[in-house]
Amino acid sequence: MVNDTFPHLFHNSETTRHFMEKLIIIGSGPAAWTAAIYASRASLEPLVIEGAVSSENQARNALPMGQLALTTEVENFPGFPPGDLSRFLETSIPKNREMMMPPHEPGQRGVSGPELVELIRAQAVHFGTRVTGGDIVEVDFDKRPYTLKSSDGKTYETRTVIVATGAGANWLGLESETRFKNKGVSACAVCDGALPRFRNKEIAVVGGGDSAVEEADYLSRYASKVYLVHRRDQLRASKILAEKAKNHPKIEILWNHLPVEIRGNEKEGVTGILLENTRDSSHREQAVAGVFLAIGHTPNTGFLKGKIDLDAKGFVVRPVPFRTDTSVPGVFAAGDVADDRYRQAITAAGTGCMAALDAERFLVTTDVTTE
Ligand code: NAP
Repeated sequence: MVNDTFPHLFHNSETTRHFMEKLIIIGSGPAAWTAAIYASRASLEPLVIEGAVSSENQARNALPMGQLALTTEVENFPGFPPGDLSRFLETSIPKNREMMMPPHEPGQRGVSGPELVELIRAQAVHFGTRVTGGDIVEVDFDKRPYTLKSSDGKTYETRTVIVATGAGANWLGLESETRFKNKGVSACAVCDGALPRFRNKEIAVVGGGDSAVEEADYLSRYASKVYLVHRRDQLRASKILAEKAKNHPKIEILWNHLPVEIRGNEKEGVTGILLENTRDSSHREQAVAGVFLAIGHTPNTGFLKGKIDLDAKGFVVRPVPFRTDTSVPGVFAAGDVADDRYRQAITAAGTGCMAALDAERFLVTTDVTTE
């Protein structure tokens, strides 16, 4: 499989060997790389399969390096306070990976999401983590060693697995939304916000959570005005962010409205959004040049259906409190893929660490006789 967008993520030569792994980590966000740091230091020689490279996954916005890759400045990750971190960041990320990171605004500092996840990845690689590309599309957890098959036809055998595949952005499900994807409709403000089509134009962000507010704030750098369209009369976002949105000179919140149609034409792309009032069902059209969705996420667990216990929303179930065990012995879950509640970089990293320690303990106690 050739991938023009992320060619540097492919390391095919490493995967031509076929041997049994002690630990395979599936994913490439903070949970996966933190698990890899701990597992490498414990001499488990982990192999990370950093997927989300197939066109199907890209279309779902399940991009490599997880949700952090889609985030602007990260102010709440311990060890990275806002402030001038320029020199540290500039010298810590390998030159051949710099293309993954958007440029900073002049004078802006603090760590960005892409920088943070690159640093964690670099730390894992430094300790000997091996990395390969490809999306895992099939698993056999019926007998150990477990078998994983990737979209590019490779088969892996492994004694333990850490699932850290994260979650991808939700879409509204409107036919018009599909029609105008990449023509003014986006689920990633950081990826698309600076495009010329949005510059000095009025645009809409849909959603009322932290992501919606952050995206509206980010997009206000480029757009002349941002309408924050929310279906209720109260934001779900944390108080500090909600206040930011309410007081922002370029953000107007359209309370109690739900998009029912994205309007536009082939030449211009999006030109407006038809909104329904959730209280009285009346309609209004708002002229906008872009619509950004920020309406939550769905876990990337399609390949695990029927193989492992998932909850009603598709998140991996971890049956034992404060453990990363799943319903399958030797398979552990870390990060957003098993977290419907916290979904922070730091909690993902924390559970990644826990999963590596759980995998190590499992190998020592369960597999000691099969070494
Ligand atoms: P979220 O908290 O689940 O919010 C999703 C928003 O989208 C809600 O306001 C919801 O409305 C709305 N929504 C859902 N489905 C919709 C639909 N079909 N049509 C219209 N609106 C819809 O998701 P999130 O904002 O992505 O945040 C996810 C997690 O990450 C949260 O725990 C959040 O705290 C965290 N996060 C933190 C930061 C930060 O700390 N800086 C930044 C980003 C995210 P209702 O409110 O009516 O349900």
